[in-house]
Amino acid sequence: MDYRATHQSLQHLTDSNWARFCPRCGCGLEERYIEAEQHLRKICSACGFIFYLNPKVVAGAVPRQGDSIWLVRRSVEPASGHWTFPGGYVDLGESVTEAAIRETHEETRLDIRLDGLLNIYSYSNAANVLVVYRATVIGGVAGVTPESREVRAFHIDEIPWSSLAFPSTREALSDYIKLEMSAREPR
Ligand SMILES: [Zn+2]
Repeated sequence: MDYRATHQSLQHLTDSNWARFCPRCGCGLEERYIEAEQHLRKICSACGFIFYLNPKVVAGAVPRQGDSIWLVRRSVEPASGHWTFPGGYVDLGESVTEAAIRETHEETRLDIRLDGLLNIYSYSNAANVLVVYRATVIGGVAGVTPESREVRAFHIDEIPWSSLAFPSTREALSDYIKLEMSAREPR
């Protein structure tokens, strides 16, 4: 999976023409102000179902091998041709950590072990919340996949900062490097 909606305009989600029918009964949704929630919501005119618009959770990992990290060059829009760490939407029925491991394998063919949370990346103008882990490669052979036209290990001094996919990619990799640098400093 990809980050389709990450940092794209939220306008399509708040457009009144988007999500016009109730997913429960198929009748029309109408916009109504809910006093108790102080929010305009889409509500089914027939069954009362409230169609909440919430961000989706994306799980990502920065897979490390020696002094390098593995990045993927996207082959799907948005940001096709740009580099990011592997990641994708969490499916119902799996945990965020399971999704990070699965997505990494789907996008790089590498097996990883998670080493802890890097950080959570959430923006008021983005449709996704990213949960990103530090990881170590423990197996597999890197290879291209339908979603990644190139899979490459970059020395942490050679990260392609000018062709990263998303603002969150830049922010997460900056955090990663800061963490690495502080771990190297003598205490
Ligand atoms: Zn309904």
